[in-house]
Amino acid sequence: MIHRIGVLTSGGDAPGMNAAIRAVTRTAIYHGIQAVGIRRGYEGLLAGDLVPLTRSSVGGIILHGGTILRTARCDAFMRAEGVNAAVSILKENDIDALAVIGGDGSFHGAKELADRGVNVVGIPATIDNDVAGTDCTIGFDTACNTALECISKLRDTASSHDRMFIVEVMGRHAGYLALETGLACGAEFVLVPELPVDLDAISEKIHYAKQRGKTHSLIVLAEGVMHASELADKLKGRCDYDPRIVVLGHLQRGGAPTCFDTVLSSRLGAAAAEALIAGRSGLMVGRVHGRIVESPLETAWTKKMHLDEDMRHLVDMLSI
Ligand code: ATP
Repeated sequence: MIHRIGVLTSGGDAPGMNAAIRAVTRTAIYHGIQAVGIRRGYEGLLAGDLVPLTRSSVGGIILHGGTILRTARCDAFMRAEGVNAAVSILKENDIDALAVIGGDGSFHGAKELADRGVNVVGIPATIDNDVAGTDCTIGFDTACNTALECISKLRDTASSHDRMFIVEVMGRHAGYLALETGLACGAEFVLVPELPVDLDAISEKIHYAKQRGKTHSLIVLAEGVMHASELADKLKGRCDYDPRIVVLGHLQRGGAPTCFDTVLSSRLGAAAAEALIAGRSGLMVGRVHGRIVESPLETAWTKKMHLDEDMRHLVDMLSI
């Protein structure tokens, strides 16, 4: 029987994390169980940085970006001594279950805890959407919408001045954010880390588009491919524009979560707390085809993920 659920946010912050903290807390309290927040992810766990969470302390945060518990990356937790110390700290503080809100790195940490007997459930939250076991992670939809809003402003100036913009979005290893945003904004090209870059194809397409009277051109580039300035240098002289670059950077992480992310966070947070209360552990919760499902934590990084090639084809086809 669980008495006290701890909750932490780890890795990069993502809009919707607060809604997930609220859902875990309120679900626990609804079932007569205490909730405690752990500040600054695994770093704060090792420092015993705890804060009681009450029904009212999570009030008014559902639509706030960032995370009230703050987040961190923690090197010490990558070593066995760090994880062992965390297990002892959880025991000393009577925390008998833990909800970890973060990406696949955070889930690796959660798995280490689960292997040492800690009751733990992962809630996938990262703007990269690179976690298997769920169709979408908390924060992805908001980040796409934020990027889209910025790019829509760029399109106005691009078409007024006959310009070509290269917009660099986040995604060191995964191109989901670039692909979704690129399709939504009508980009001519989307470059992702999963697929090779064909500079000849880019310059040819841009050249023909300009000949047909197109007054601007837009490339959405995931940061993992190369830096926007590098791509601009490579394209200079190969196409009819002097490419301008915009790096959206951390802008994409902030802001209020969208309706989709708020609902997703609330459903996943509640499902994680209910799984822990029912005595299930070593799991992650996710949303697959609209339904909330549970899978083993390691699903997050062992199940192969595929970038949707049809989406990439759509970008090409619709931007002729
Ligand atoms: P994002 O996708 O936003 O980067 P993430 O959760 O994948 O989120 P990481 O920096 O990869 O972010 O991981 C967060 C933290 O999880 C790390 O700083 C570390 O403390 C812990 N962690 C990552 N991998 C492991 C591991 N193999 N063993 C133990 N802990 C780990």
